Amino acid sequence: MNIIFFGPPAAGKGTQARIIEEKYGLKQLSTGDMLRAEISVGSELGLAAKKIMDRGELVSDEIVIGMIAKRIDSPACAKGAIFDGFPRTVPQADALEKMLAERGKKIDIVMELEVDQDMLVARIEKRAAEEGRSDDNIDALKVRLEQYNDYSAKVLPYYAAKGEVHKIDGKKAINEVTAQIEAILQPEAEARAAG
Ligand code: ADP
Repeated sequence: MNIIFFGPPAAGKGTQARIIEEKYGLKQLSTGDMLRAEISVGSELGLAAKKIMDRGELVSDEIVIGMIAKRIDSPACAKGAIFDGFPRTVPQADALEKMLAERGKKIDIVMELEVDQDMLVARIEKRAAEEGRSDDNIDALKVRLEQYNDYSAKVLPYYAAKGEVHKIDGKKAINEVTAQIEAILQPEAEARAAG
């Protein structure tokens, strides 16, 4: 079962992905986390990406597609993946579709976490204090929100044309958001278990 979590910065994608990954045996693939890991080991890729990420802009399709391609065949992904923060562009969506099709797989569920902008600002401020991410500041957040509005207007219709995009109310408490997500995942997981 392959799932995409869509949503603005600090919508709670990562939090939910980590809960769902354990419960359903799926693997969270977060391009943002992968890029931050590259930065923390000081790789060349990380150094190049950091400048872009700190401005809130998108790193190149080539880089993020490459990072996903490197992991898609890992045993952890055997039961499926939760794509978090990827795809952010139509070329990324096309590349993902091709990668999955080559393996006889597809995206089964697309979810969009919806959160109001003022709530996002509050969450980012809290996360900045807790985690110290260098792109969690108001200037970068503004750009990230603009980018999100921009790319979601292209990528969401891409998936809507193929099937449903499930809207999740991301303003609720963490466990209530999880419950909404599970209401969509559970029937799909049961159908699979039944073969
Ligand atoms: P957010 O909380 O803003 O959704 P992420 O951790 O998903 O944060 O991403 C942080 C930054 O990493 C983005 O602002 C962007 O610079 C870069 N990034 C992550 N995923 C992608 C992607 N699929 N395409 C391009 N850039 C990406």
